[in-house]
Amino acid sequence: MIKVVASGAAGKMGMAVCRAVLEDDDLELVGAVDKVNTGENVSGSSIKIDDSLERVMDETHADVLVDFTIADSVIENAEIATKRGAHIVIGTTGLASDKLDALKGISESSQKNILYAPNFAIGAVLLMKVCESIAGYFDRAEIIEKHHDQKADAPSGTSIMTANLISKNLTPQPLQEIEKFKGARGAKVDDIPVHSVRLPGLVAHQEVIFGLQGQTLTIRHDSIDRVSFMPGVVMAVKAIGKKTGFTMGLDKIMPGAGI
Ligand code: NAD
Repeated sequence: MIKVVASGAAGKMGMAVCRAVLEDDDLELVGAVDKVNTGENVSGSSIKIDDSLERVMDETHADVLVDFTIADSVIENAEIATKRGAHIVIGTTGLASDKLDALKGISESSQKNILYAPNFAIGAVLLMKVCESIAGYFDRAEIIEKHHDQKADAPSGTSIMTANLISKNLTPQPLQEIEKFKGARGAKVDDIPVHSVRLPGLVAHQEVIFGLQGQTLTIRHDSIDRVSFMPGVVMAVKAIGKKTGFTMGLDKIMPGAGI
């Protein structure tokens, strides 16, 4: 059994993680941490939400910490967990390159494995891989990402990673254009325009539109429920013990995702 602690356990993703761990025969939920709803039981289990990660890690000797919190908490949580011998699976987004570098450093110095994935939905990972592999056939690409209106960061981590991957094989020529209102043409990530939509009713959606003379190709993925992320999270928790060092992206542990 792999012993798991969930950080951000009272949040939308954290609650889904706790349920997924409780339902998996190979995983054991041994702790749940959050700054809110402390003392409450998690998903009908006997595990109570605690506000101290140090205490939970010391008491449970967990194998893996799963972190779905806020970007400002990730580094401190990683230091606490790795010092106590745990590997880490991180889904929290909005991590700038300095934080990713810090995670690499923590993994190296602690000799514990850390996996960060901006999107744990298998379909979204496949969308990214397909976009990377076909981008070279097109002149331009634009990304529209849509999320619920509680999302803290924009553009989404998935859209940033998608733009990074597309730009490996596609360099769009600059357009002669006048932006009458700032932001009308989206944020440029590696020269790829990314448009962020935030509305109640949405979960996590992304559309990539490729353009070439006389034609467009649209590739789209929709997470309509947070359970969509759980097979990927469970896969990562089971793989992290053997995936040495710092890993970025679920595709690195998905069999056959090289495409
Ligand atoms: P949420 O606001 O519902 O939950 C975040 C929780 O973290 C809150 O309960 C908050 O109290 C808690 N928290 C903050 N700091 C903490 C700390 N230091 N220790 C413990 N708990 C702490 O947000 P959410 O919708 O659950 O999303 C959480 C993160 O996951 C966001 O960054 C979001 O963008 C990301 N996300 C990632 C994926 C993915 O597949 N990687 C999918 C969906 C959301």
